[in-house]
This record gives sequence, structure tokens and C-alpha cells, in this order.
Amino acid sequence: MRHRIAVVGCGPAGLTFARVLHRHGHPVTVLERDPAPDARPPGGTLDLHEGLGQRALDKAGLLAEFQALARPEGQAMRILDPDGTVLRDWRPGPDERANPEIDRGQLRDLLLGPLDVQWGRAVTRVVPGTPDGVLVHVADGRAETFDLVVGADGAWSRTRPAVSPATPHYTGVTSVETSLDDVDTRHPELARLIGDGSVAVYGVNRSLVAQRNSGGHVKVYARFRAPLDWHTDLDLADVEAVRSHLTALFPGWAAPALDLLRHGTAFAHRPLYVLPVGHTWPHVPGVTLLGDAAHLMPPLGVGANLAMLEGAELAEAIAADPADLDEVVRAFEEQMCARAGGWAQITAAGLERLVSPDPADALAVFDQVQPT
Ligand SMILES: Cc1cc2nc3c(=O)[nH]c(=O)nc-3n(C[C@H](O)[C@H](O)[C@H](O)COP(=O)(O)OP(=O)(O)OC[C@H]3O[C@@H](n4cnc5c(N)ncnc54)[C@H](O)[C@@H]3O)c2cc1C
Repeated sequence: MRHRIAVVGCGPAGLTFARVLHRHGHPVTVLERDPAPDARPPGGTLDLHEGLGQRALDKAGLLAEFQALARPEGQAMRILDPDGTVLRDWRPGPDERANPEIDRGQLRDLLLGPLDVQWGRAVTRVVPGTPDGVLVHVADGRAETFDLVVGADGAWSRTRPAVSPATPHYTGVTSVETSLDDVDTRHPELARLIGDGSVAVYGVNRSLVAQRNSGGHVKVYARFRAPLDWHTDLDLADVEAVRSHLTALFPGWAAPALDLLRHGTAFAHRPLYVLPVGHTWPHVPGVTLLGDAAHLMPPLGVGANLAMLEGAELAEAIAADPADLDEVVRAFEEQMCARAGGWAQITAAGLERLVSPDPADALAVFDQVQPT
């Protein structure tokens, strides 16, 4: 029996779900709001963990292709004091493959492969329980029914309201993102500082992190505790004004750290929102959630990994037992929410320590998770 299945969203969760279903020969409708795969910048680099994201890629039959693209050397991590002193300088051994990095755009293209995505189709509402199944309304005015709708549509999911009233709340930590291009040619000193992986500087209630992507591109994240409206007197589109406001937020920091902001080309404000830790919902036949739509948590290297593993596991479960779709989904939700709840707790505590009144907390986090 072939169920009518739709997935909303082409992020790591939705694409992995669709790709694994496709691998098992099960058709799936993929609805994505963006008009094309490269309609907006794909974002920075992701580290995919052996037991999570890499396991998902294995289930999709894509592990070897991932290994060919991934950057194990990107696991390198250097930590500086705000005065520029190097506190930690960790480099992976030649066989270290626990968390290699991959650009998001490369991962998206790898997962997309043969999938037939309906681009430019923003879902506006999902209505379960109609006589013909779950009704999906799209912004273009069309609507279609399915036996199962999987909401993989991220933090501000339009699918979530069909199962849960929860909405994301602000953590009190915000992030301003900028980037450097051609870093090896244009900013060789910064390139040496960042090395093959990342450099992080932790101060009182703030941090600066720079991460190398492929092709000499670097993403820089300035994170600090602030009210959500910290920028009311600032025009966020005015690059020079944002640059000078930001550098003033890191008073007394040594030049290499501040140069990451001084050379940034454009700035994007991304406040950190989360769903409540342990978010669950009473099972609703025909609708479920994956990834950030189900358990948005602080960006500490886990969200995409979990999203992918969930996508792969749900698809495998459906492919293995297509007779009782509802029971398969119910069992999956139980297991997913329990596992994600644990990670939500860990990452919430991690954010408190990484953007903390005592920068020694951040160093302690690094020392705890550092592979030996
Ligand atoms: C700066 C930063 C760094 C991070 N680094 C890491 C890392 O190293 N490792 C890691 O595991 N995680 C990391 N994360 C977290 C990770 O990015 C997310 O957890 C992950 O992207 C979630 O995947 P998703 O598929 O659930 O949602 P998303 O990636 O948000 O994808 C949702 C998709 O749904 C589409 N969509 C949204 N609304 C609709 C709609 N109404 N109709 C149709 N389509 C819609 C969107 O366009 C998008 O394509 C990081 C996050 C940030 C912010």
C-alpha cells in the first residue's frame, strides 16, 4: 500500500526524510517555501557527528559521498582570551572523523540528488482530520490532502500549530553574524588565527567565534546577552553603524578578535530562540514534526544532526512497516521527543555556560567535550 506522504521544508530534516524514503522506493511530495535551492545564502558550516548526522547519511546511502566532501581538518579549535592569549589549540589527528565539517550548501545538494522538490510552495496551514486526510494549504491558493504530513519547516513551523500550541521564546542571547571572503588572500593574519577550523574568544556575557567554510569563506558570530530590542537606536542595514556598535560591545578586546568584526562585509541579526525543553504534544493522526519544528534548541552543534537522524529513522520505519502508518508515527514521536528532550537540556545548559558572566565556564565546556 502506498501512503500519500508530504514533507514540508527542505532543510536537513526534510531532505533526509525524503531521501531515505526515496531510497526505499516510497514516493513523497516535498514542499519548500524557497523559490529555488540557491534562492538565499545557505548559511555556514555544519559538523556532522558519527552517531547522529553521519548515521543518517549512512541510512541514505550517502556516507561515502559525504566523506569525500567533508573537512575533518575543520574540527580544529583554538580558544583565545580577550587579550589575545591562546588558551587552547586543538587539532584533530589524521584519522579523526568524529565531527567533520561540511558546508550547508554542499550537504543540501548531496541530499537533494534525484529528489523532485516543489520549490516556491510555502505552506500556510495544515488541517488534520478532514474526511479525505490531512489538508495542506499552500500560499499559491492550492490545497492538497495526504495520509501523513511531516512538518520539517524549522523554528517558525506552519505545521506545528496542527499538533501543538508551543511557540519559540527568546533565550536572552542574541547573535550577529558576518563573514569574510577570500580570507587567505585578503586577511592572511586572520586566516592563520582561524586555522583549518574555528577560533573562539569568550568574555563576560559575550563571545566571538569564527569558523572556516570551504573556499576561503569564514563565518563570524558575535553572541551577547541583550534584550531583544537592543538595536532600537541602530539601523541594522547600516553596515558601518553596526560595525562600530558591535566593536564597542567588546571593549578592550585585542586586535585579532576585533578584526573579525572590522573586516566583516555585512551583518545579520539572529536572536537565539528555543522551544520549551522537553516539548511534546498529544499524538495527532496524520501529522508529525521533525527537527527544529519539533525541538528548536540553541545552536551548539546538535540541531541539524538530530534533524537528519530523525528524518532517516522515520523514513526507515515507514518503509519497514507501511501497513500501520499511524502506529509507526506514534512510536517514532515518543522516541524522538525523549531523545531530543535530553539534548535540549544539554544545549540550554551549554548556552548558559558559553555566554556566561564567568568566561572560565566556556573553557570548562570545551575541556569536557574535547576529543582526546
Ligand atoms: C549559526 C548556527 C550554526 C549551527 N551549527 C550547527 C552545527 O554545526 N551542527 C548542527 O547539528 N546544527 C547546527 N545548527 C542548528 C541547525 O542549523 C538546525 O538545527 C537545523 O538547520 C534544523 O534543520 P531543520 O531541517 O529542522 O530546519 P531548517 O534548517 O530551518 O529548514 C527548514 C526548511 O523549511 C522551509 N520552510 C519554512 N517554512 C516553510 C513553509 N511554511 N512552507 C514550506 N517550507 C518552509 C525553510 O525554507 C527551510 O528550507 C546551527 C544553527 C545556527 C543558527
